Amino acid sequence: MNMKTPKTIVVKFGTSVLTQGGNRLCLSHMVEIVRELARLESSGVQVVVVSSGAQAAGRETLGYPKLPKNLINRQMVATVGQNRLFNTWQNLFSIYGFNVGQILLTGADLEDRVRYLNARDTIKAMLEHKIIPVINENDALATPGIKIGDNDNLSARVAVMIEADLLVLLTDQKGLYTSNPEKDKGARFIYVVPEITDEIRAMAGGSVSGLGTGGMSTKIEAASIATMSGIDTVVMSGAEPANIGDLLKGGSHGTLFRGSENPVLSRKMWIVACKVPSGSIFVDSGAAKAILERGSSLLPSGIKKVEGEFGRREVVSVRSLEGKELGRGITRYSSKELSLIMGHHSDEFEKILGYECGSVAVHRDDLAVSEGI
Ligand code: GLU
Repeated sequence: MNMKTPKTIVVKFGTSVLTQGGNRLCLSHMVEIVRELARLESSGVQVVVVSSGAQAAGRETLGYPKLPKNLINRQMVATVGQNRLFNTWQNLFSIYGFNVGQILLTGADLEDRVRYLNARDTIKAMLEHKIIPVINENDALATPGIKIGDNDNLSARVAVMIEADLLVLLTDQKGLYTSNPEKDKGARFIYVVPEITDEIRAMAGGSVSGLGTGGMSTKIEAASIATMSGIDTVVMSGAEPANIGDLLKGGSHGTLFRGSENPVLSRKMWIVACKVPSGSIFVDSGAAKAILERGSSLLPSGIKKVEGEFGRREVVSVRSLEGKELGRGITRYSSKELSLIMGHHSDEFEKILGYECGSVAVHRDDLAVSEGI
């Protein structure tokens, strides 16, 4: 399949994949999955796992109790199952010498910019240290209004958040057909979707598989979030884990939704469009040159003056000493902290503040310079 070679991939496992259609986690299948993911991680691909299956694992642990089907019972079951689910991933990855870390998110975490950035930074730090993030919705707390509801959407948002190169949604279907192949003999398989149109959405219908929450329609929703941000998305069967690696080598599996060549959802647009700067940072000409011409992060050593009062993670305007706005970005230090460490090298931050929050004032990933405004 003709795709850019991915460096960071988000792989979402539906409940039906982890249970193989049964009513409990299928360990023999999960071993194969983990073997494949560990092989990819060893070959230099950064792997993020989004795992469903907390409800299924919880029901298994509790001995399939007959409970009224309501939200509070589902949440209760998930608290038991999430633990078991994560432990299973942890034990299996440890066979191959990899550590995993658990991240549980709700919609509220992704809508709040500060929590969103914190989650992003944590996941990125894990990837740098070859710790495999295992992510699920925080089902115990995700009540209507704050919940994402399905892991297809969650995995797409995570892929956008960490700027992944590829999103793989593994399910019990081979991919997208023109109509339901179980009911329509004339259904044709779709290999590539260059653009998600209403016609494509209609093909997904409202299908929901076995124990999972999603279906083909949530996969299309997920694909539209990811592809709008330039991320290729593949919906494929999770029956043969070795196919994940084969896909990355160019093999044809499932349906590829092509990432847009002109992503409209830029994270930096959020910085510029959605927030009024809380203050200004004035930088010397060396720092101005570095951020404008070399796309560098802004270091406190290049800051000459701080105006206004702001906390960490707020949007600030970055200005030249003449006051010209060079760009806007999210600061990693508060105005008080910056006033103390400006003009200093990062080696000295600890001595001055008694702690440090990294060497940069505004990271390049969080800095939209004038050309981008
Ligand atoms: N968070 C749910 C679970 O782990 C799964 C949601 C979904 O299937 O999309 O049970």
